[in-house]
Amino acid sequence: MSQNPENTWSAAEAKENQQEIAKLVDNLSLQKDGEAKSEDDGVDVSNPADASLLQKIIRKGLIDTRSELDIIRQDPNSPLYSAKTFEELKLKPELLKGVYAMNFNKPSKIQETALPTLLADPPQNMIAQSQSGTGKTAAFVIAMLSRVDTSKNYPQILCLSPTYELAIQTGEVAAKIAQFSPIKLRYAVRGEEVARGSKLDDHIIIGTPGKVLDWSSKFRVFDIKKISVFVLDEADVMIATQGHQDQCTRIHKQIPTTCQMMLFSATYDRQVMEFAQHIVKNPIVIKLLREQESLDNITQYYVRCRDQDEKYQAIQNIYGVITIGQAIIFCHTRKTASWLAVKMTKDGHSVAVLSGELTVEQRLAVLDRFRAGLEKVLITTNVLSRGIDVEQVTIVVNFDLPVDQEGDADCETYLHRIGRTGRFGKNGIAINLVDSEKSMNVCRTIEKHFGKKIHLLDADDSDEIEKIGS
Ligand code: ADP
Repeated sequence: MSQNPENTWSAAEAKENQQEIAKLVDNLSLQKDGEAKSEDDGVDVSNPADASLLQKIIRKGLIDTRSELDIIRQDPNSPLYSAKTFEELKLKPELLKGVYAMNFNKPSKIQETALPTLLADPPQNMIAQSQSGTGKTAAFVIAMLSRVDTSKNYPQILCLSPTYELAIQTGEVAAKIAQFSPIKLRYAVRGEEVARGSKLDDHIIIGTPGKVLDWSSKFRVFDIKKISVFVLDEADVMIATQGHQDQCTRIHKQIPTTCQMMLFSATYDRQVMEFAQHIVKNPIVIKLLREQESLDNITQYYVRCRDQDEKYQAIQNIYGVITIGQAIIFCHTRKTASWLAVKMTKDGHSVAVLSGELTVEQRLAVLDRFRAGLEKVLITTNVLSRGIDVEQVTIVVNFDLPVDQEGDADCETYLHRIGRTGRFGKNGIAINLVDSEKSMNVCRTIEKHFGKKIHLLDADDSDEIEKIGS
């Protein structure tokens, strides 16, 4: 895949993206109204590895978090340092130069606490959990690079990532921070080949579990007993990926017990924690609570409709009366999303569609254009409920209310779709289109769950609509 570390698109790439979008719209237009291409209606379930990659690439910088760190350590008397500057960490000068080349001025919240521990001697094991965008990758990359002994030309550090793309992302950060140092990195991912019996002279291996196992056990191109730092990145994605948990455990078994173990994860449920504690013995555990989304600044409405056509009419009426900056419209299925996109496009709206059949690259292209304001409406399925912090979005429409597999109200997804974190404290509007008693019940359940009124809106009454825009 083409990498985009600067998160900017060159003119050529933008043109390519435009062509990509044009193709997508063509595809949509080829479909007859209301007809899906696939046999099912295409209910998208977000793939954790894709979602994580997407978040990494679209992330323009650190998440501004106000949450506090929760730290658990074996010996509560052992001092825990917090480093407010990178200088305090006493990084090697060439690495400090690399950190500044990344435009990092000071450690992020998780880095402040994780880095002094990760760099301390004797080495300490760590489990760290915080949401995407809080600086975990940069933290363990700085730790890995700091632990390299460049006088020894063999692999000393092993970092496992769940997918090819995620490994490359991490490798790119490492290569940038290491640009002024002689440290050598090697990817152990698909497409990278080694001759059986040859010996790697790179200091750091970043790879996916299967390939790393091949290289260590089958081809024996490095001595896993000489690994002194073992990093497991995206542990939650790792265990959600078929077969990876087993492979990680097999690699882990071969690693010396004296090795420093670091495990990072964006989420922290029981399954992840069990796996983490199995891999990382006597860890210091650092958790940074997720920045909570809230409905505080959001005025919520529901519109009673008889069917899909009336839902569409409601949207039209609203657009006819108030000026809407950018809007995101959530649909339950790809079929509905395509249907809606075709209709809105025909009616002159500039529409982007983001759904599960798109590759990560296509999704990025769609999001980039939407963020740049090239399209005013983003129609999407559940492929993306979290992670699009687009400040200009003033209206979120639930064309279909979020439900779980049983068809019951999915309040968590509702919050991710509609809610905003403290950062974008601006007012917003959420409109729920309700077309049956069942969806009315879902709406009531959501209202009750959050204890926040969802007001009835008559979308045929322009005076009423005008009020919501004021
Ligand atoms: P995570 O691994 O938790 O998702 P990353 O390490 O990828 O987080 O960091 C998220 C974004 O913030 C990246 O764009 C990264 O370059 C940037 N970043 C990381 N650490 C810092 C820092 N100390 N100062 C400024 N930006 C940072």
